[in-house]
This record gives sequence, C-alpha cells and structure tokens, in this order.
Amino acid sequence: MRLSLFALIMASAAGAAAAGPALPPGYHLIPGAVPLDSGPDGNTIVIDAPRGLIVMDTGRHPEHAQAILDYAKQRHRPIAAIVNSHWHLDHTTGNWDIRKAYPHVQVYASNALKGALQTFLADSRANTDQMLADPKTSAATRDQLLRGRSVIDHPERIAPKHVIAKSARMSIAGRPLDVRLARFAATEGDVWLYDPKTRVAVVGDLVVGLVPFMDTACAEGWSRALGEVARVPFTRLIPGHGPVMTRADFSAWRTAYDNFVACGHSSAKEAQCVAGWEHDAAKFIEPDHRDYVRGAAAYYFETRLRTSPEERQRYCRPLSVATWRKPKA
Ligand SMILES: [Zn+2]
Repeated sequence: MRLSLFALIMASAAGAAAAGPALPPGYHLIPGAVPLDSGPDGNTIVIDAPRGLIVMDTGRHPEHAQAILDYAKQRHRPIAAIVNSHWHLDHTTGNWDIRKAYPHVQVYASNALKGALQTFLADSRANTDQMLADPKTSAATRDQLLRGRSVIDHPERIAPKHVIAKSARMSIAGRPLDVRLARFAATEGDVWLYDPKTRVAVVGDLVVGLVPFMDTACAEGWSRALGEVARVPFTRLIPGHGPVMTRADFSAWRTAYDNFVACGHSSAKEAQCVAGWEHDAAKFIEPDHRDYVRGAAAYYFETRLRTSPEERQRYCRPLSVATWRKPKA
C-alpha cells in the first residue's frame, strides 16, 4: 500500500494511543499501533455476541493478530465472526491468523477487495517487489512486506464469505447490528456498524484521529459518509485508528475533514491547508506523531486533493483494470 510505503519512509519514534472515553460492557478495544518506522495497525473492536466474539478489523502485524487471539482465549469464547471495515491491509491481514485458529469464522466485508486487487494492490505488489530487491531494506521491513504480499497473492485468506452489498439490520453471530455500507468513501466500499442497544458506532477509517488516510479516497463520498454517521444517535464512536470518541469529538473531526478537503480544492497554499488540518485536528494528534501527520497531510493534499479533476475522481467509481492508470508516485 502506498501509505505503508510512505510510512516506512517517515521513520522516527513510536507513540501509543490512549484509549479515550470508556466503552459499554461487551465491547473491547485492541488499539492499533501507529509506529513511525512501519505501517500502522487498524484498531480492532471485539464485540460479545451469543455465538461467540465478533472481531471488527484484524490489524496488519502478527503481534496485533496475536493480541486478538489472546483476548479470545482469555475470554474462553470462540471468534465467530470477522467484519472488515475495508480492505486496506492494516485492517485485514490478520484475518488469516484468525481463520487458521478458528476455521469456521464467518467473514463479512464489502466486495471492494476485488477491484483493488487488479489495480491498487497490483501496483502495491510491484512496489513491494522493488523494495525486496533493494539490499538496503531491513530484515524487519522485509518480514512485513512478505506478510503483506502473501495476502495479495492469496486473497482468499482475507476475502469475505459474506459480501455486504447494502445497508441493513443483520444478525452477526446472533447479535443484531445495523450494518452500513458507505460507497466510494475511504475505499470503494466501507462497512461501519451501529449498535442501537449500546449507541456505539464502529466506523473504520471513515474517522482516523491523526489524518484521514486518503490513499484510495473519494473525498466527496467520504464527506457524505460522515454525514450518514452523524445522523445516527451514537454516544461513543470507535475510529479506525486512535482513541474512542464522543459525539463532540466526532463533530470536531468531521469539521476538520471538511475544512481540509475544501482547502485542498481551493487555491490556498499547501502549507496553509496542512497547518489548517494540524490546527483543527490538534486534539487528535499525539505530540510524537506531529511530523508524521504533517508529512501525510501534505502527501494527501498533493496526491488526492490538489490534483487534476480526473485524478480526484479516480476512487469515485468502481476500480477496474480496464480504466486503471498507474498513479504518479
Ligand atoms: Zn487504516
């Protein structure tokens, strides 16, 4: 993935995310690490259900997957279902570790992985091979690259058994949940959950405390999805990365997102838009991550916002090999 490659270049110190406001019983957050010398792990949320545990997102690194397995073991409950918020490898790579331990686990996701495999992930794989061929690539980075490449080469390891094609009330592992599909947002199909019983929303990378990870984003679709999230009466929101949010936190983040996109689409200078993000989202950015966030915001400004009209629309339609042109690096 381009972000992971980008993150690899942005090497420096690591920082751990705080947990934020408390979650109701039956919810357990395994925070995703945001190390600055390798790609991030998405947050994992484990939800109690009658038939076992529901795991929303499974991280990238083996240590993250192990933490999920350890938690299930400690609870003496099987992992009955995985829900992937989106196909980015920092949210799906651990599916395979969990499937190996729980072969009957039911995997739910949108079908967006399909188009991504032929396009973005095919490019990613080529970048991976280039990095593996470079003798300067460290052993630790090599391990991470090989782990990512193995699921691109064997997508059946992470792919859904149940494709979520529309928003609906569903029973997952016997627990009723509102399963929502946002089309053309952070990816072609972003799944998020709302639990009316506890008023918790689990939204994947539709909200990322640090900076919106816009690698495969349709900026307008994403903004619409945030509007849909705002319409549900949640009191706690779990983002794809970073601590749990209150409604007020979410509103502040949404304003920061819309301001950043509007700035990127205006004629304002890059430095002003990046500083705007840092200011508006200051509450969500740990001091250790400031340089990382500044670099990432500049990168997304250049690659997704201040770019040609066609390029801006790249992820606002289905990804297909027929229409894919390699993005300029
Ligand atoms: Zn992510």
